[in-house]
Amino acid sequence: MRKNIVAGNWKMNKNLQEGIALAKELNEALTADKPNCDVVICTPFIHLASVTPIVDAAIIGVGAENCADKVSGAYTGEVSAEMVASTGAQYVILGHSERRSYYGETVEILEEKVKLALANNLTPIFCIGEVLEERQAEKQNEVVAAQLASVFTLSAEDFGKIILAYEPVWAIGTGLTATPEQAQDIHAYIRSLIAEKYGQEVAENCSILYGGSCKPSNAKELFANPDVDGGLIGGAALKVADFKGIIDAFK
Ligand code: PEP
Repeated sequence: MRKNIVAGNWKMNKNLQEGIALAKELNEALTADKPNCDVVICTPFIHLASVTPIVDAAIIGVGAENCADKVSGAYTGEVSAEMVASTGAQYVILGHSERRSYYGETVEILEEKVKLALANNLTPIFCIGEVLEERQAEKQNEVVAAQLASVFTLSAEDFGKIILAYEPVWAIGTGLTATPEQAQDIHAYIRSLIAEKYGQEVAENCSILYGGSCKPSNAKELFANPDVDGGLIGGAALKVADFKGIIDAFK
């Protein structure tokens, strides 16, 4: 069954003490008022081992924001999927537009990362989405179709383990949000590509999150669309009241 999911992406924010405090506060808020959807927080690597033991795993999943495209060895500064999993984390964001544009992550590199994440029992939250010029040229469909090549080499069984996040780059951190119609149109298109590749059942079961300036005031109308199964949240994941406001869109 397709799940509704709200996942936070802390990006490069919060030192260790601040991150622990944020995770504790969120855990308290969601323990007192249980969510109606899956909730995940994706934190910087250094937070993972400290955050996983302090959140109730039945309510909040924990994930990384990236992992290496190599198994192990002489890759100074990198963190492997196995290392992420050893902290107790269960998820990893892969293919975020900031990784694609600032760190040159290609379709091929991301294919390796997804495979290594799955081999280590991590659930990839795989991000796709077009930049503003591509949207203006009405090329968004072909852009997301090309980006999906990283995950369309998976077996149907493995594809069934991943979460997708459609994030129009022009809406990330900009205050601009896709309209509910824009989100629904492209989510339905993405689901149709999955159906073409893996069949209707796999497509129906795949959670496709929307990301890009999602906030408590717009979450409900975005998530109300039949093909929008929750959100990947950046800025608004850094304040418990805002993040919980988005989670509560499913109530
Ligand atoms: C993101 O970076 O995944 C994101 C959606 O950011 P924001 O919510 O801040 O636009």
